[in-house]
Amino acid sequence: MTKVGDVLKRRAVEQSKIRVQLNSVRAEEEALLKGGEDTVAWVKEELCIGCDQCTIVCEDDAIELYDTPLASPIMDVDVNRKARILRDPCTGCKICVLACPTDAIIMIDR
Ligand code: SF4
Ligand code: SF4
Repeated sequence: MTKVGDVLKRRAVEQSKIRVQLNSVRAEEEALLKGGEDTVAWVKEELCIGCDQCTIVCEDDAIELYDTPLASPIMDVDVNRKARILRDPCTGCKICVLACPTDAIIMIDR
């Protein structure tokens, strides 16, 4: 019979493998993204779900959330949030692009 300890060990091994693979994919993604001081992040509003991940990772306070009307008439929610990039403080570090779960942020030329 499988013991809990065995399952936890197998889980830790699998977690480690998945983490290595994800880090590898992220490194490849980052290498392909343009960035730097000649670029600035841009949010595609239609893809933003207001999850707040980008504001958490941005160390330059270059992202703010604003309220906007919810598009769906079937949900009783007054406002939905969207992210907006503040161009001046944005350093083009592209961390927010990697953090966004919906691929709503892209890097554009400044
Ligand atoms: S991480 Fe992406 S989806 Fe979440 S608030 Fe920022 S731009 Fe919007
Ligand atoms: S590129 Fe860097 S500095 Fe600019 S908004 Fe994204 S995380 Fe902030």
